[in-house]
Amino acid sequence: MALLQIAEPGQAAAPHEHRLAAGIDLGTTNSLVAAVRSGQAKTLPDAQGRHLLPSVVRYTQDGVIVGHEAREAAASDPLNTIASAKRLIGRPVSDIKSLGGSLPYEFVDQDSSVPRIRTVSGDVSPMEVSAEILRVLAHRAEETLGGELSGVVITVPAYFDDAQRQATKDAARLAGLNVFRLLNEPTAAAVAYGLDRGADGVHAIFDLGGGTFDISILRLNRGVFEVMSTGGDSALGGDDFDQAIAEWIMDQAGIADDADHKVLRQLMQDARRAKEVLSDAEVAELDIAIPGDGRWQGSIDRETFNRLADPLIRKTISACRRALRDADISADEVREVVMVGGSTRMPRVREKVGDFFGRAPLVDIDPDKVVALGAAIQADVLAGNKPDDEILLLDVTPLSLGLETMGGLVEKLIPRNTTIPVARAQEFTTFKDGQTAMAIHVLQGEREMVEHCRSLARFELRGIPPMVAGAARIRVTFRVDADGLLNVEAEELSQGVRAQVTVKPSYGLTDEEISGMLQASYEHAEQDMQERKLAEARVEGMRVVEALQAALASDGDRLLSNDERKPIETALEQLNQAIAGNDADAIEEQAKNVEKVCEFYVERRMNSGIQEAMAGHNINEFE
Ligand code: ADP
Ligand code: MG
Repeated sequence: MALLQIAEPGQAAAPHEHRLAAGIDLGTTNSLVAAVRSGQAKTLPDAQGRHLLPSVVRYTQDGVIVGHEAREAAASDPLNTIASAKRLIGRPVSDIKSLGGSLPYEFVDQDSSVPRIRTVSGDVSPMEVSAEILRVLAHRAEETLGGELSGVVITVPAYFDDAQRQATKDAARLAGLNVFRLLNEPTAAAVAYGLDRGADGVHAIFDLGGGTFDISILRLNRGVFEVMSTGGDSALGGDDFDQAIAEWIMDQAGIADDADHKVLRQLMQDARRAKEVLSDAEVAELDIAIPGDGRWQGSIDRETFNRLADPLIRKTISACRRALRDADISADEVREVVMVGGSTRMPRVREKVGDFFGRAPLVDIDPDKVVALGAAIQADVLAGNKPDDEILLLDVTPLSLGLETMGGLVEKLIPRNTTIPVARAQEFTTFKDGQTAMAIHVLQGEREMVEHCRSLARFELRGIPPMVAGAARIRVTFRVDADGLLNVEAEELSQGVRAQVTVKPSYGLTDEEISGMLQASYEHAEQDMQERKLAEARVEGMRVVEALQAALASDGDRLLSNDERKPIETALEQLNQAIAGNDADAIEEQAKNVEKVCEFYVERRMNSGIQEAMAGHNINEFE
């Protein structure tokens, strides 16, 4: 009989249950989609074998065209061909206006906060444009992988704010995609190089694309990437190098600035080609159309190009210097430098970046693809195809996590916005003498009272050895793992009895609900403070009542005459009444009164030398 196979702990038990997932680099100039296939992350080409999809969408009367064909039409149909959706997404109209007239589109004049662009097939928002690009890439992935995607990871610049991130997520939703998570582009690049599995330390991600330059300083700290600083120039990229070569050619060939538009456009393309050739060759031959149907032949060598490139590269180095300063670290503290973006293929860029950081940058992975590959690796893990310990740890807890204490109050152990994974412990104690069990109620939210927070789980810790109230020590540990899973464990410290529960705090919670809960906590801050004060006074009052009743039961008959006992019971009754009311100050006052009335009794108990009755008790209990 064949032996049955058992999976290694943490490994997916059923290989046939592999879920399809993809990583998408939604770029300014180009976008890519990648997936892990047979354990290898690879970018997926289109039917023509092209991996890059130009991030350009053209709206026509007959439908929407995305990619290469749209980019070709940009010059002839600029108003309907949108090439800068990423520069616009999630930004208010006021921001767009400040981007200046550099954008050739016709914006719809309106008060709405989201800018809309007028096209022949109707008004579109940048979010809708991005959705078209995502749709094409997801379709490509589903065709290639042969099934429906269970989810995607989409990358965004590290500096994207909440609105830009939300708009990107909305674009994905519009494209019918399930977003496992958005991932910062520099983090994705670091993941592609496996830096998340290496030693803790600081890494620099240098991303020079077509029209933008981003430098990010990341710190890997116990498996968590934190963005220490970001910098760059949103108007510096490969296009500027093209421009520099084009100007040099115009000079050499005697082409005037005001030459025919078509000539200049062709010149820009030739310049770009020469630039790319020079990344591999020492010389690039030039055969340029000049005005009047003539041609100019020549060549440009690497040395000449470097001279043109250096001022631009210097700008990127200055930005690196600023980013390091913002992160408060020096260049020699940087462990690895990762090169991202097509323009980092230029040898001169690699050389200057290497000089600045004092180490050779990582260039082994195609700089166009590295971000998409990192996203694909994350998507594969999040789809559940990998052991949990490979999940990248970048999330924070959206809401505070805590437990219920006496009086219906919430004690927060992990405040909101804590980076996960995280573990926090706190000690608690019993409320009553001889208490042998404890009800642990796990809650989520920002409010002070249990009734206003979200209940996540309840469990009991049993087997606490009987002791007087407040003597037992119960350590409660909250752990949130990288996947956002919360484990709560309670342990009685003298005997070691334990109980625990695991829950998923985000389960069934939408972003809207989270923001609603936060909003409520701001609005009710004052009321919550009052309620907390009252609840605390009640708990304190009840503790006094409990302790006094326990004392009276144990030795009241022996130590007190009936006349002596009377005022104590009256004071106790008044305290109980105050506790039943809603006045925190009155409760405190009555508790103080009990203390005063009981002074002689406490003293008599001390002096009577009834040690056992006092064991673990403390005179302050009657305060
Ligand atoms: P983005 O991140 O802005 O979408 P990419 O990372 O795709 O942009 O980079 C596009 C830029 O990379 C273009 O300016 C292109 O000319 C440049 N590029 C591509 N290949 C090379 C090369 N071999 N040498 C120099 N530059 C290159
Ligand atoms: Mg890019």
